[in-house]
Amino acid sequence: MARSALALLNRPSAAAAPHDPDAPAFALVDPAGAHISALDLGITRGEGIFETISVAEGRPLALEPHLRRFASSAAALELPAPDLDAWREAILAVVAELDPSPEAYVKTVLTPGVEGDGRPTGYAYGTQVSGFEEARTTGIRVVLLDRGLRHDAGKTSPWLLAGAKTLSYAVNRAAVREAKRRGADDVIFLSSDGYVLEGPTSTVLVRRGRELLTPGVGLAILDGTTQADLFAFGERRGYSTGFALLTPDELVACDDIWLVSSVRNAAPVRELDGVARAVDAEFTAEMNRFLHTRSE
Ligand code: PLP
Repeated sequence: MARSALALLNRPSAAAAPHDPDAPAFALVDPAGAHISALDLGITRGEGIFETISVAEGRPLALEPHLRRFASSAAALELPAPDLDAWREAILAVVAELDPSPEAYVKTVLTPGVEGDGRPTGYAYGTQVSGFEEARTTGIRVVLLDRGLRHDAGKTSPWLLAGAKTLSYAVNRAAVREAKRRGADDVIFLSSDGYVLEGPTSTVLVRRGRELLTPGVGLAILDGTTQADLFAFGERRGYSTGFALLTPDELVACDDIWLVSSVRNAAPVRELDGVARAVDAEFTAEMNRFLHTRSE
């Protein structure tokens, strides 16, 4: 047992050659060791995809939706299709390696590997995690930032890969640094034509009366697994759920705003562009309790 664990996939995709034809599907290796080539396209070009899967009390959450999204991101980048059975097995082995803890996560990464080699790189890294209590209870301060793309960029420019979970998160991280410069914690991106999109690592969820809403599909944003589960949570409580194109004014007028994602779960927005907002502590706590026990 350990605080972190790493599984290297020998054959991340059944459509590509394994690294070693005689070796099993994956091997648990020293997470502190050096395992990836300096020439891996994931490193030299930021080409590749990932998923981050919450683990609660030793149980991976929403594993199947994460695996499905992993496969659809791979298709968007024209990577060899991940062998989901091998990945599932590797993820469960990593989870079983971790010391018992209330919260952990497993990150899966798939890249094309070294250019010209034809063997993709794949690994699943797991580690314990903590420290989200304040974001989940007190809430977060958020600024609205222009992403510089129209809301329909996914249709007009699919090569931007918006909506796929790619390794190219430097822009998302730069946006969070800009938020910090402005005295905030996180960001909600707007399209250049003025619609609410998503956070750099989260989905926007709002409550408006008896509705739970999230920015529409087809907006070149990631299809969130946490948001999907929170729709089920809302429906059980009699809320109607759906997708909405929201302007910043409509966002401000909502009763509640959360940024929701695996690992941090539901973080209520307590300040938007410097303006304080009330947080529904009880409803948010219920959401976070529900997320801790999401199904696999
Ligand atoms: N949007 C972006 C850009 C993300 O990176 C993430 C998660 O990392 C999400 C939304 C939320 O996705 P999920 O709820 O599946 O973690």
